[in-house]
Amino acid sequence: MRKNLLQVQGLTVGFKQEGKQRVQAVSNVSFKIAKGETLGLVGESGCGKSTIARAIMQLPRPTSGRIFFDGEDLTQVGKKRLQQLRPRFQMIFQDSISSLNPRRNIIDTLTAPLKVIGKTTPGEKRHRALEMMASVGIDPGACHLRPFQFSGGQCQRIQIARALMANPELLICDEPVSSLDVSVQAQIINLLETLKKEHQLTMLFISHDLAVVKNICDRVVVMYLGKLCEKAPCEKLYKTHHHPYTRALLSAIPKPNPGLLPSINLRAGDLPSPVDPPSGCRFRTRCPRAEKRCAHKEPVFQEIEPGHHVACHFPIV
Ligand code: SF4
Repeated sequence: MRKNLLQVQGLTVGFKQEGKQRVQAVSNVSFKIAKGETLGLVGESGCGKSTIARAIMQLPRPTSGRIFFDGEDLTQVGKKRLQQLRPRFQMIFQDSISSLNPRRNIIDTLTAPLKVIGKTTPGEKRHRALEMMASVGIDPGACHLRPFQFSGGQCQRIQIARALMANPELLICDEPVSSLDVSVQAQIINLLETLKKEHQLTMLFISHDLAVVKNICDRVVVMYLGKLCEKAPCEKLYKTHHHPYTRALLSAIPKPNPGLLPSINLRAGDLPSPVDPPSGCRFRTRCPRAEKRCAHKEPVFQEIEPGHHVACHFPIV
């Protein structure tokens, strides 16, 4: 059995909104990622996926819960230790262009993370940066250019190169392809798969689209309004999922043969506000299978078969 590199236990993240109302963006979320595994985290925009990613990075520290990275609880370590550990877990963001400093050329952008590590000469830093540019498919000859001189897809490649400069073990990818054209999306996903093998990475891959995570993840976690709905090995989730929300997300994927899977459409209405989530099951206001019980009792996230967890009173069978 592979050792867990990341273990998130009972993670809750709350913050005050401008109008002074407290929002619980993530509520009691737990999952593990084994060394070398890629876990997909999927849900609609605003469901708390990025909040989880930032909480793992300790940006900011979560309200409660524990986050173990290679056995050390990041929520308990001091600032100095966190700084020492940080090169080992890196993150790439959705908006690659704005995540790069517009005033820095690419070589400075790529060598900056090595300053934290120290013990590297300027020549070694430059050599590593040029090597990394080549490995993500960017011409090293373009190292003096600035971010605005590259396309969105190229900026995402540069962002990936920057994240890998410190030789991390865990890479958190927050919607890394959602702002890119479909053809470029496939290239970036292929690149991430190649780099994962080359650098023996463990990955948390966040997306709003179940179709995107299908080819890159080993297991998938589906979340809705700050809570987990379903967690299963990737292949299983696509074939025999049990949560109505997972079915609805899958129904939204255009299929070559639409007759294969009975689809579920969400009941009309927007995603409820996390400021005042529905009682009982948070999905009940949009769930076509909701019954009385769903309004009164919150479903428990439980294992219904080995490795497959669901939070639903009336799962699809
Ligand atoms: S618990 Fe009820 S409302 Fe929630 S997903 Fe299941 S059937 Fe739908």
